[in-house]
Amino acid sequence: MSAQVPEKYSNLGFDPEALREKYRQERDKRIRPEGNDQYVEITGRYSHFLDDPYVEPGFEREPLNDDVDVLIIGGGFGGMLAAARFKQAGITDIRIIESGGDFGGTWYWNRYPGAQCDIESYCYLPLLEELGYLPKEKYSYQPEIYEHSRRIADTFGLYDVACFQTQVTDLTWDEDLARWIVATNRNDTIRARFVTMASGPLNKPKLPAIPGIEEFEGHMFHTSRWDYDYTGGDHTGNLDKLGDKKVAVIGTGATAIQSVPYVGAHAKHTYVFQRTPSSVDERGNSPTDPQWAESLEPGWQRARRENFNDVVTGRPVETDVVNDGWTSIFRFMSAMGSRRIRNDSSGDLAEAMELADFQKMNQVRDRVTSIVEDRDTAETLQPWYRQFCKRPTFNDEFLPTFNRSNVDLIDVSETAGVESITPHGVVAGRVEYEVDCIIFATGFEVGTAYTRRSGYEITGIDGRTLTDYWSDGMRTLHGFSANGFPNLFIVGLSQNGFSVNLTSMLDDQAQHVAYIIKEVNARGARYCQPTEQAETQWVDTIRRLAVDNVAFFEACTPGYYNNEGRVKERRGNLNGEAYAPGVNAFNNLLAQWRQADDLAGLQLS
Ligand code: NDP
Repeated sequence: MSAQVPEKYSNLGFDPEALREKYRQERDKRIRPEGNDQYVEITGRYSHFLDDPYVEPGFEREPLNDDVDVLIIGGGFGGMLAAARFKQAGITDIRIIESGGDFGGTWYWNRYPGAQCDIESYCYLPLLEELGYLPKEKYSYQPEIYEHSRRIADTFGLYDVACFQTQVTDLTWDEDLARWIVATNRNDTIRARFVTMASGPLNKPKLPAIPGIEEFEGHMFHTSRWDYDYTGGDHTGNLDKLGDKKVAVIGTGATAIQSVPYVGAHAKHTYVFQRTPSSVDERGNSPTDPQWAESLEPGWQRARRENFNDVVTGRPVETDVVNDGWTSIFRFMSAMGSRRIRNDSSGDLAEAMELADFQKMNQVRDRVTSIVEDRDTAETLQPWYRQFCKRPTFNDEFLPTFNRSNVDLIDVSETAGVESITPHGVVAGRVEYEVDCIIFATGFEVGTAYTRRSGYEITGIDGRTLTDYWSDGMRTLHGFSANGFPNLFIVGLSQNGFSVNLTSMLDDQAQHVAYIIKEVNARGARYCQPTEQAETQWVDTIRRLAVDNVAFFEACTPGYYNNEGRVKERRGNLNGEAYAPGVNAFNNLLAQWRQADDLAGLQLS
């Protein structure tokens, strides 16, 4: 390192000040004043991007006009786990409304080649012990996860209660009936005593508002609607119909990292348009070891998930049982951070963690240069931000793809994205790249209004909408329910304990809601809702314990983790505010709450 590195950093081997400045520059050139408005809502002339390629067109059915005890919105893991846990609790009159043509949610829609879970599958796939199934590999591919969804649905009889290809359009509370009146895009009217919303955090694809999109005369699709009729092949590749095609992939987030190797291997030519590089770490997938499988004791999955949650919350554990990409990052960071604190008593924890982060990201950047042969391409693929500014990715095929002669990386960071689309191609740096097909790997809406993402408004007691009620920020008891919205439960990200292993979090939440519904019934109440006081206390608890991460996220390159750079504006749009002590602590708190058996904070009517 240069001679100007301050004394206290002299043994690091890098200059933190120089890195801070580099991170600042990389962020500044990408910040767009429009924030989330740089994306267009997929409606009207763009609505074909949402067409479901996995169902036969023309499905029709008679509208429903009936009553159910519990209506669940969403047939992904959240909705399926809710239904499964409700049934186990003896709640059987259930209906599930799902926009896709089958169960699976994320894993129904995202069938792009290479789609894979990036949390270890033994932790990620739910109900493994209950269903007696063990994934084939440490990281499962989409077909296995989708099959597992179908296995859950079969086991718990969920096909009998599912309404597929149906979207809720309105939820309104009827005080006289003490029912939610649920309207759908198939003209159904369903009266439901309880409603559980499990719509998922990344359910609505988004498109950048690139001028000229609608003028493109070639083929276009979003990765969550992969068009195998056009590309040929399946999730394992063999995209043989691309052999004579020039393809543009726009975006380099987690989806592109997994799918680009397949496009690159099969298309005549591939242009990957990158605005911000991902952090791409090792994957190291491996088949499940039968001896290890034999050795598993009852209760192993819960213990494994709790161990995972502890490691990624920064809690000390004796052994990192899971040892996957995520836990490795956390172990590395906390080992480096604590070593620094031990060696430098004057250093503060925040700085120690920042230095550990620099070290981790230096490894990630070095990995790029060790794999990608062309120096300029390698430099362009290096991420300059802190590890958790964006979702870390893990893949062993993405970087080598850029050593192929038929693949080009096009850097669009200087213009904050692709400049325009013409009838025949994509324009970047004033150069038109002629292509036959554009694949949008541009992700999902996160920071937009809840109603825009869900497609419906919720109107509770006295005609008050949830949008209005939360206009100054989310208010819930334990993240599940809000005052004035009786018998309505959220399963997903709200004001609760967050785990990056979403499925474990969803399962625990489903069990908690099952308990509440069962108790409301057992106590002969028509409905329950949190008291204003309990809700205020919970919101205060969440905010009192919250770690102030505004400065961290403001220093990040923009993306959905930091509300496209508008960090302070993100509260209240159902992005959630996590319970800082972590999901294991949250689950303990809920377990105690249930044990007290008094439904504290819930008002029964
Ligand atoms: P992301 O939001 O992560 O990425 C979208 C990409 O599109 C970014 O690279 C973004 O650049 C780019 N982009 C947007 N607008 C433009 C533009 N105008 N010009 C050029 N590029 C543009 O979406 P993904 O679908 O990749 O991932 C979404 C999430 O889905 C992940 O974060 C993860 O949570 C989940 N996922 C999980 C996987 C798993 O393994 N479990 C696999 C895949 C996805 P920029 O970064 O500059 O905004």
